[in-house]
Amino acid sequence: MHGLLDAAEAQAPNAPAVQDAHGAWTYRELAAHSRAFARWLRDRGVRRGDRLVLQLPTNRALVAMFQGALRCGVVFVPLNPAMKAFHLRQVIGNAEPALVIGDAASAGNLAEVTDRPVERMDTLWPEVERLREQGAGFTDPEVTPDDVATLIYTSGSTAAPKAVICPHAQVVFATRALTRALGYREDDVVLCRFPMSWDYGLYKVLMTCAVRCQVVLAERESDLQILRRMREVGATVVPLVPSLATMIITLAERTQTEQAPVRMFTNTGAALPGATIDKLREHFPGARVVRQYGQTEAKRITVMPPEEDGERPGSSGLPLPGTRVLILDDEGNRVPAGEVGEIVAVGPHVMPGYWRNDENTAKAFRTDPVTGERRLHTGDYGRLDDDGYLYFEGRRDDMFKRKGFRMSTVEIEAAAMDVPGVRAAAALPPSDTHDLALFVEADLSPGAVRKELARRLEPAKVPSICRVLTEFPLTQHGKNARQELALLLEGSAS
Ligand code: ASP
Repeated sequence: MHGLLDAAEAQAPNAPAVQDAHGAWTYRELAAHSRAFARWLRDRGVRRGDRLVLQLPTNRALVAMFQGALRCGVVFVPLNPAMKAFHLRQVIGNAEPALVIGDAASAGNLAEVTDRPVERMDTLWPEVERLREQGAGFTDPEVTPDDVATLIYTSGSTAAPKAVICPHAQVVFATRALTRALGYREDDVVLCRFPMSWDYGLYKVLMTCAVRCQVVLAERESDLQILRRMREVGATVVPLVPSLATMIITLAERTQTEQAPVRMFTNTGAALPGATIDKLREHFPGARVVRQYGQTEAKRITVMPPEEDGERPGSSGLPLPGTRVLILDDEGNRVPAGEVGEIVAVGPHVMPGYWRNDENTAKAFRTDPVTGERRLHTGDYGRLDDDGYLYFEGRRDDMFKRKGFRMSTVEIEAAAMDVPGVRAAAALPPSDTHDLALFVEADLSPGAVRKELARRLEPAKVPSICRVLTEFPLTQHGKNARQELALLLEGSAS
C-alpha cells in the first residue's frame, strides 16, 4: 500500500495531497512525514506485525501515521474518537497492541483501559517533525502483500468486537478497482467527512493517492460549515450518507451563492432516498449521484456506473471490476435472476476474516465447494437483474412475513422517505412485543404519515405503529441506531 504513496511522490511531488482545517501537504510532504513516523515507530521498538491502536481525529497527521505504519508492516488500528471505555476495553483486549496513541481528549481514557504504553500526540508529533527535518526515514523491505495493513472494527454492535483483517493486497485491489469504477480524476478534490476508523473514510486517502488527486478532511463538528467548505476547497467529489446529504440540502436551500463544482456524490453505508437524490441534483446541476453497496469484509461490493446514475432506480450497481456477486438460497444454490437470496461476494477484495474471532470468521468467510475460491456471505439479501445489476433488499433480520406477505423494512422506509416532510425513517419488524413499527423524523402527525403510506404500500405493509421524533438517533457512521429505537418502543430509553 505504501507503494501507492511512493509512486505519487515520484510522479507528482508538488501536487496537493491532503488538506485539513489547519493546512495542506503535497505528496512530497506527506511521504516525508510518513517516513519520519515509520522511523519513530522503529526507534520505539514497534515492529512488523505489531498492532498500533490510535484514537485520534481524522487529520493530516493521522494520514501520515497510517502511511508510516504501512511502511513498517505495523498494523494500523484506528478507533473512532467517540468510542467509549466499554468498547475500548474490549477492542484493545482483542487487538493486543504494542502501542496505543491518543490525544488530550482520549489518552486518559485509553490509559484507564489498558496496561500497554499510551503515547500522546502533543509529545510524539514534535519528535516526528524533528526526525522529518533531519531527513530520517524507514521502510521495512520485508513487508509483503499478505501482511495485514489495518484492522477495521465494525461499529454498532454490543456483542464481542469484530475487526475485519485487511491485508495490503486486498486493500490495494479494492482501491484500484474503485477509482476505476468511479472514474476518479487527477484534478479531483474529494471532500471527506468520515473518520478513518470507518472504511468509507479510510479508503478516501488511498483512492486519492492512487490517482494523485487531493483529499480534504472535514471533521464531524464542521457539518454546519460543510457547504462553505465545499465551496472554499472547490470540492468535485463528495461521499455521502443520508444525514450528511440532508444537511447539505438544507444548507443549500438557505444560500443564494454559487455552489461548489461537485461533479459526483457517492453513497454507501445507508441508501439515499430518491427524494434526497433529486434534491442534490437540483442544487448541483450535472452532478452524478452514485449508488453503491459494500461491507468492510470486502470493502465495496457493487458500484452503479456514474454515467448510469439516473437508470435502474433502487439498484446499487455492478460488482467491482474483477469480482463477482452470487445470489444463493438457504442451501447454497444459485437462484435465477430476479429472485431474492443471500448476497455473496467472490474476488480479490474478500478479506481473510475477523481478527481472533474464528466463530464469526467461519460463518461469513467460506470456501466455494467447487472452485475453492473464498466467498463472503454478507448476511444481506438482494437480487440481480438480467444484466447483473444488484438490488439490495435488506439484512436477514430486516426481512419478515406479515399478514401472509413477505416484505422488508427497506421498502417500508423507502415509501416513508417518499412522503414530503419526512426527513428520516426506520422500520422495525414485528416482534413478540410489538407489531410492525415505523419511526420518522418529520413535522407531520403519525396519522398523516400512515395515510400517506397507505397510498404507497399494500395494506399489509402499512405499519400499525408510527412514532414521530424531532431528532433521530444515529450511529457514529450516520446509520439509524435501531437498538435505540427498539428501546424507545419498549418505553425503556431515557
Ligand atoms: N464498506 C462499506 C462501503 O464502503 C461501507 C460500510 O460498511 O458501511 O461500501
